[in-house]
Amino acid sequence: MKRVYMDANATTPLLPEVVEAMRPYWMERFGNASSIHLDGQQAHAAVDRARATLAEFFNCHDAEVVFNSGGTESDNTAIFGLLRPGDHFVTTAIEHSAILAAAERMALHGVETSFVAPQPSGLIDPAAIQSALRPETRLISVMLANNESGVLQPVEEIGRIAREAGAFFHIDGVQGAGKVKLDVRRFGCHLCSISAHKMYGPKGIGAMFVRRGTPIESLLVGGSHERRRRAGTENVPGIVGLAKAAELAMLSLEDGTIDRVAGLRDRLEAGILRLSGTGVNGARQSQMLGGPGPDFGTWESTNPVPRVANTTNIWFDQLEGEALVIALDLKGVAVSGGSACHSGATEPSHVLMAMGLNKTRARASLRFSLLKTATEADVDCVLKVVPEAVEHLRAISPVAAGTLG
Ligand code: PLP
Repeated sequence: MKRVYMDANATTPLLPEVVEAMRPYWMERFGNASSIHLDGQQAHAAVDRARATLAEFFNCHDAEVVFNSGGTESDNTAIFGLLRPGDHFVTTAIEHSAILAAAERMALHGVETSFVAPQPSGLIDPAAIQSALRPETRLISVMLANNESGVLQPVEEIGRIAREAGAFFHIDGVQGAGKVKLDVRRFGCHLCSISAHKMYGPKGIGAMFVRRGTPIESLLVGGSHERRRRAGTENVPGIVGLAKAAELAMLSLEDGTIDRVAGLRDRLEAGILRLSGTGVNGARQSQMLGGPGPDFGTWESTNPVPRVANTTNIWFDQLEGEALVIALDLKGVAVSGGSACHSGATEPSHVLMAMGLNKTRARASLRFSLLKTATEADVDCVLKVVPEAVEHLRAISPVAAGTLG
């Protein structure tokens, strides 16, 4: 059976060029980048070249790039490295758990957090960030793109608010990197997290932009790696792979690849929306079908809601999202549901709930996230399989029969 992978926001495969770039650094160029002999120097030079590529990717100086293990570490570092007892932290209710759980931990250490709710479309209103500020607000953290809805957040406006308030600004750029152009100068942030495995690089490696002069304490201590900002022997093959992935991502933004993916996503979305009782989570009201849309605020109604090119999040009335994920998987299609398993219990997505969906609709939502290598044939296959699976499940579903609350 041909398999179609539409879960790129969970992780992506390595591109062949990335594997090829990494290969020598596991074998003949295995040196420790801190060693002074030739083997070490070769590894060190590879890390330096990668740092220059990442500086271009972020639009920053080489010295402002810190390599680490990925998005979770960067997000945690921003919070644990900057906040101290008595500080106030402003973030949003739709962040990744790497931010939310770190904020929870900081509550035990005398840091209060305000979680700003999104508008029903999934967009964070900059005015809501402004209203959450207090004199003791030290850090604001907002994601560039949401992993579930794909909605792009107004980080530039939030950057301006942070500057006026004299607060530090962290952007979780994990889901935006490679899908939109990163420009930390334009965004006005002090810190920005990215992760290689969301952009066709290896797992367990990432980088953080740290603006020069930002007084951040390192999470890990030990050797003086990464200018004392992240101790631990450099993962040279991973760093080389991340740099190659970043180089290819910059190309994809310019050579029409991302626009092509947007076209495929739009065709997929339009095809699925032909089914009754479906609608998009995180889109404008005009795109909603099958029922009254949510009540939009003024900031949104005057601004279209931008999304990354590869993501659509769709609700299907009268069925359980999890059952649909399994049914699609059995037919060779990999997607994610609008719920997450926490300690054995299936909880509706905190992102969709914060957007105002009720539990039933949040549980009945699916995220389709296309790889940048997706094809017309992939979309055709999904558009054949989804209606069959939905029709079958609705026919047998206890939700459809009204026996589930
Ligand atoms: N931030 C966002 C928005 C994410 O989607 C993810 C991964 O799902 C992370 C952070 C964590 O990144 P990593 O898997 O590299 O730890």
